[in-house]
Amino acid sequence: MEKLDINRYFGKSFCCPYCHSRHEIPVKKLFTKTGAIFSLPDIISKLIVGKNILILCDNNTYKAAGEKCEKVLSKSFNASCLILSSGKNKKIHAEEKYFPAILKKLKGKDAIITAGSGTITDLGKYAADKMKIPVISVPTAPSMNAYTSGVSAFISGTLKKTVPVKPAIAVVTDLDIISNAPIEMIKAGFADSLARSFANADWKLACLFTEEKFCALPYEITENLEASYIDKARQIIKRDKRMILKMMKALHLGGISMIIAGSSSPASGGEHLISHYLDMVAHKNKKDSFSLHGLQVGLGVMISAATYERLNKLDLSDVRYLLKNHKSKEHLNAHEFIRKNFGIEEELNKKLLLLNTLRKKLPFLWNKLKKEVFPMAKGSEEIKDILKNAGCPLKFSEIGVDRDLAYQAINYSRFIRPRLTVFDIAGELGILTDIAYQFTQ
Ligand SMILES: [Zn+2]
Ligand SMILES: [Zn+2]
Repeated sequence: MEKLDINRYFGKSFCCPYCHSRHEIPVKKLFTKTGAIFSLPDIISKLIVGKNILILCDNNTYKAAGEKCEKVLSKSFNASCLILSSGKNKKIHAEEKYFPAILKKLKGKDAIITAGSGTITDLGKYAADKMKIPVISVPTAPSMNAYTSGVSAFISGTLKKTVPVKPAIAVVTDLDIISNAPIEMIKAGFADSLARSFANADWKLACLFTEEKFCALPYEITENLEASYIDKARQIIKRDKRMILKMMKALHLGGISMIIAGSSSPASGGEHLISHYLDMVAHKNKKDSFSLHGLQVGLGVMISAATYERLNKLDLSDVRYLLKNHKSKEHLNAHEFIRKNFGIEEELNKKLLLLNTLRKKLPFLWNKLKKEVFPMAKGSEEIKDILKNAGCPLKFSEIGVDRDLAYQAINYSRFIRPRLTVFDIAGELGILTDIAYQFTQ
């Protein structure tokens, strides 16, 4: 099949050559280049009605991009900055408490520009959605893929909520700005982007069991891009702009993938659950996250790669034997633990039903999984080398996660979301504990 040029479909709906459904991409303009910020007035004037614009940023992102946005827009727009701060030297987190101030400032505004990374983007997208005005995203770091996505994640009370919102109408990424981001954020984006092959494999795997529709478009549109930078990590961490450009484009398409799929599936599989689990534990203990999202995901990717590799070595008779002989005592401990510690009863019950289906269908689907799904995932040695070249953490201890917690995250994180991943197959066959053991020695 001829590759579809996704760039032609921004702001449009189209019939998908892979799954034959209609997909819609509400993001109208993705503009990623050196000096992109100078095109901001031109881009905005074509997309919005009105002249009143609020630029949302924090102290750091004001210096990196907010101030520049204000300056380039000053001639033809009425633009002002709202700089969020959280007291001296404290980092801003995406928390509900900022919304009243943002919503108040948005009264009478025609659009909002989010000049920042994850936190500012999440806060801005949600507030704009509430006010029904367009968002223009100006990323300050190539640290994750949510600039183009249709969800906003923030802390509400003690819970981390992920809410569907209207995606940005345009994402204007200035290469000069993002390549000067803190180096840890660049590494984080790189590691987050490695989730692609594993998340898509997990998605396809889940669809085989649940008979939901899988679409290969997200996997396909990012394949060539990923191949062009994945082995160039050393250049990326030297801030090579050509490589950072490719990586950022891949991250942006990762966000678009989630819009196409109508869920986070093509960008977030089991590897992300490990990161989410660590965040839940940190949050429960009223602490900051252990590390940046992408760096935690990088560790999850290593576990995912090892799990796929291990499963690929099993043949159907092994699977039948393991299914019959695995006593799920560990399993019951996990349920009790999740219930007691996180109180996510509904998700857990849904997951347990899915696991019944998985155990029943696994022998029948095994050869298909081996043929069509397992080969999508990259090998574990390759992943380790790639992460090593990028200077990303390779061990949980490097991000302050001790052995017990790492063991727990690998074994239990699969129960926090009602979606099947490779960890569920390994868990039901009783080999996930081995993998967890191997990674915590
Ligand atoms: Zn499709
Ligand atoms: Zn991610």
